[in-house]
Amino acid sequence: MNLRTLIFVNNACYKAGRTIIPRGLFVHSTGANNPNLKRYVGPDDGLLGHNTYGNHWNRPMDRQVCVHAFIGRLADGSIATYQTLPWNMRGWHSGSGPKGNANDSYIGFEICEDGLTNASYFRAVFNEAVELCAYLCKMFNLDPLRDGVIIGHYEGYQRGIASNHADPRHWFVKFGESMDSFRAAVRRCMDTGVPMPPEPAPEPEAPAPIAPEPPAHEIHTVAKGDTLWRIAANKLGKGARYIEIMTLNALTSDAIRVGQKLKIPKV
Ligand SMILES: [Zn+2]
Repeated sequence: MNLRTLIFVNNACYKAGRTIIPRGLFVHSTGANNPNLKRYVGPDDGLLGHNTYGNHWNRPMDRQVCVHAFIGRLADGSIATYQTLPWNMRGWHSGSGPKGNANDSYIGFEICEDGLTNASYFRAVFNEAVELCAYLCKMFNLDPLRDGVIIGHYEGYQRGIASNHADPRHWFVKFGESMDSFRAAVRRCMDTGVPMPPEPAPEPEAPAPIAPEPPAHEIHTVAKGDTLWRIAANKLGKGARYIEIMTLNALTSDAIRVGQKLKIPKV
């Protein structure tokens, strides 16, 4: 995990200064095709890159929105996690439902979505999220497999403690993952220290059979008295095939000279 810190001190959520006792982790994905951290995290620290629109979240916002961390891409294309609120500060990320408000007890983080078709980006940020959750579960003594400890936004809605959003399921399913597989990966990461078991080494591949070289053309050296017609008649059995010799040798006229080397088509 590439964990960095840029606390959103200008966001009204930070200024509100409310604290929570974290009882779980709440997983979001942004729902916008923009994998760059600079979209949300700023100002530029030399790694994020400059957000020319100035619309990152470290500012007074027109709506109450803030999470504890973002996972996405740095300016150089590498993946990082930015902590953007103290972990025990109350964030604004879940919305609420009939049974409560997840903001009161969950640490929330966003994974920056891209166009949802890039498998290597997905795998990199998924693993980064697994590592972040393993790190936080250890910090707050949470069991990732216990019911309700790590939930996706859509699960928060199902549990009646969050707004009706589909993230991050719509993205996870595209790459064969789910919140269940995510939780299992967090448990594994806590046990082994790595987000994913190493890929099994690929079977050594048998060397590809080498295609036999097509035989080279026969070369005819023009002798005194040769004409294209005569060469074609001798070599190809038909004088009229001299056109093929011209084509093969890229000749623009039928003039040939003694000693000239001509490729002769395979009969
Ligand atoms: Zn969400």
